[in-house]
Amino acid sequence: MPDLPAAARWLPPGTFDGAVAVVTGGGTGLGLEISRGLAALGAVVVVASRRAEHHQALVAEAAVRGWKVESLVLDVRESDRVRVAADALVERHGRIDVLVNNAAGNFVCPAERMSANAWRSVVGIALDGTFYCSQAFGRAMIRQRRGSILNVVATYATTGMAGVAHSASAKAGVLALTKSLAAEWARHEIRVNAIAPGPFHSQGAAANLWPTPEIEESIRSRIPLGRFATAEEVAAHGLYLLSPACSYVTGECLVVDGGATLGRPMWEPR
Ligand code: NAP
Repeated sequence: MPDLPAAARWLPPGTFDGAVAVVTGGGTGLGLEISRGLAALGAVVVVASRRAEHHQALVAEAAVRGWKVESLVLDVRESDRVRVAADALVERHGRIDVLVNNAAGNFVCPAERMSANAWRSVVGIALDGTFYCSQAFGRAMIRQRRGSILNVVATYATTGMAGVAHSASAKAGVLALTKSLAAEWARHEIRVNAIAPGPFHSQGAAANLWPTPEIEESIRSRIPLGRFATAEEVAAHGLYLLSPACSYVTGECLVVDGGATLGRPMWEPR
């Protein structure tokens, strides 16, 4: 096996030694790379999502590398189950140090054709789920007077975006929640930050957001750095915000988008 996962190479070894970390949607895409980074840097990582099969690759990798990874089947939209899961984890590990609210679902749909179910599903995972998990795991952090939370939003949380009104509205809510909880829980030594990625490749995104090479190319052509991010490089920024390197940073949102949200030039540089 190669050495450290790419996302974990920028922080000192053992950065998360002894920490207990929960990553929602942590078995695929960006969540997987954040989970791998946390595990490689010493955390006990609990991967939480609906389908256990999404956790299997990481659990298998952990067995080979000697990482501590646990699989938790959980739908973040179910507030009671989230609370029960949080209590059980605290019972088992004694603490929760890190929470990554990464789970989301998204698909392109014109607003005028969006069903109530479609709206509720996307907002339910990203916004309700982030609140339920933050509250349930945050209660443990409040008791122990220590914690670091990372919320994954998107650049369109601040700009809005045609075709994804549900997701953009949910992410804007998560951004407001990030700042609200940061202000409210700072006195408990809990930091709450966010990352706002631009497009990066993942199974969910490729199928639902750029289903054809033409659409992918048209998105890429509008990114000043000229390429999509990798999940590993986005994860690296998330790990940085979670880590003690950012001990005096809270309520912040780090945009990781290759310049995609910068203003368009009046002329196209060649
Ligand atoms: P992904 O691979 O599709 O990951 C989504 C994860 O969420 C899956 O692991 C899924 O696992 C989990 N999930 C979905 N519904 C859930 C629920 N109800 N309860 C618990 N877990 C649930 O997508 P990704 O592209 O890596 O996205 C990761 C994050 O980055 C998301 O917050 C997304 O909005 C954000 N983001 C992505 C892009 C991009 O271009 N890819 C850009 C900006 C922001 P299960 O199916 O097992 O539940």
